[in-house]
Amino acid sequence: MDAQWPQKLTDLRRQLNQYSYEYYVEDRPSVPDSEYDRLMNELIAIETEHPEWITPDSPTQRVGGEPLKAFTKVTHDVPMLSLGDVFNEEELLDFDRRVRQAVGDDVVYVCELKIDGLAVSLTYENGQFILGATRGNGTIGEDITNNLKTVRSLPLVLPEPVNFEVRGEAYMPKKSFEKLNEERSRNGEPLFANPRNAAAGSLRQLDPKISAKRRLSVFLYSSGQFDREKITTHYGLLEEIKRLGLPVNPESRRCRTMQEVFDYIKEYTEKRDALPYGIDGIVVKVDSMAQQRALGNTVKSPRWMIAYKFPAEEVVSTLEAIEVSI
Ligand code: NAD
Repeated sequence: MDAQWPQKLTDLRRQLNQYSYEYYVEDRPSVPDSEYDRLMNELIAIETEHPEWITPDSPTQRVGGEPLKAFTKVTHDVPMLSLGDVFNEEELLDFDRRVRQAVGDDVVYVCELKIDGLAVSLTYENGQFILGATRGNGTIGEDITNNLKTVRSLPLVLPEPVNFEVRGEAYMPKKSFEKLNEERSRNGEPLFANPRNAAAGSLRQLDPKISAKRRLSVFLYSSGQFDREKITTHYGLLEEIKRLGLPVNPESRRCRTMQEVFDYIKEYTEKRDALPYGIDGIVVKVDSMAQQRALGNTVKSPRWMIAYKFPAEEVVSTLEAIEVSI
């Protein structure tokens, strides 16, 4: 056993915990995502080699950050997990192999854009929007109902008296982000590092008037609790969410082969800059809900979906120079 590793492990964990706090709790990252991902991959590599060193408080086992104390806490009945990620085609093929080994060769995937925002949960009771929450640490999030009510594309009442929890990504469109930073620059205020931090900082405001001014939007793509047995596929769920009048990203697509998945990735890598909102990758999801259940979850992420991350856009090399703020 390499005697140096435990100290390295402690250092990596301490560093990652600090970066996570800055990113998730303060919305003020001090390093680029690529640096965070590099350290996380180092930690994963060590823990894979030495599973006996994995503890429940390791950053590899935890989702997001702790909720801010100023907000009322919301407990998620179904945990809001993170996503496993891959960075190249080979790793994506490994994911596909793992899926096929577990559920057989009859697999359809849904490819979606990975929206660069923050995960939110919306609860509708009898068709009325009653609760909105952040992911927080996956089990406990923050009550941001009043802030989410200011998102104009979000219906407060659905056309049917459904009871369900729908989940998705709140984001700040590129134009709103640019305008906001121009305004902050004019006022001599610190700039936001990226649309993700701007969206998170804007929604996690105690004063909903500030959220209202920030022009946020939402795309919904999953559900927590949902009382509809007839929905058996992820794509069917997206169609149902859309039918209920909730905003769904229009670019999602069923792919029947890995070649179709790679074509989708290529297409949206090229279209990325032209989209009116930021994306940081493509999410590939097993379509069949029966297969999703068979695959299950790790402590941190579902085994039936994976994020293919685009190579980092190094906006953040300027991060040290730019002060970021909520
Ligand atoms: P993630 O951002 O890699 O992916 C998971 C999230 O993707 C989900 O929770 C969901 O909110 C979102 N998502 C967007 N579109 C989606 C779609 N169509 N379907 C499903 N989910 C979708 O994971 P994470 O746990 O939120 O964050 C980890 C990442 O955050 C790291 O890889 C790193 O890049 C970044 N990070 C950076 C720092 C830093 O200091 N710079 C610190 C912590 C984390």
